[in-house]
Amino acid sequence: MNQTPQYSGSCFCGSVKFTVTGTPKLMGYCHCESCRKWSAGPINAFTLWDPEALSITQGEDNISSFNKTANSTRKWCSLCGGHIFSEHPEMKMVDVYAASIPELNFEPAVHVFYAETVLPIKDGLPKMKDLPAEAGGSGETLAE
Ligand SMILES: [Zn+2]
Ligand SMILES: [Zn+2]
Repeated sequence: MNQTPQYSGSCFCGSVKFTVTGTPKLMGYCHCESCRKWSAGPINAFTLWDPEALSITQGEDNISSFNKTANSTRKWCSLCGGHIFSEHPEMKMVDVYAASIPELNFEPAVHVFYAETVLPIKDGLPKMKDLPAEAGGSGETLAE
């Protein structure tokens, strides 16, 4: 067996369905203010994929978009308001929120934008001040 893994996900009401295929490039938690305000939660559990890994299989017409900044196109279902994913064109990645793909075994490797945290988490994972250098950040780490 050498099958490429595929995971199914959906919005809150289930009218938008999608699959992600392969393995996420990175999984972790984002503590930035934008993610907090957008998600109405203290942190966002992200899974970053190549954009080609994501395929909308149902309800594409119900997906709405908002750009606060050029590098984050945030997507949600216009019927239920449930958040689905964010496109990050400058990083050439798509963040499919871990909560919308429950089939995926979420294995966080890093915390990003920890300088902005309102919910410190002592889990022993690296705490990036902003982003890793490969993703255009400072690459600095902070204490937990
Ligand atoms: Zn929905
Ligand atoms: Zn964020």
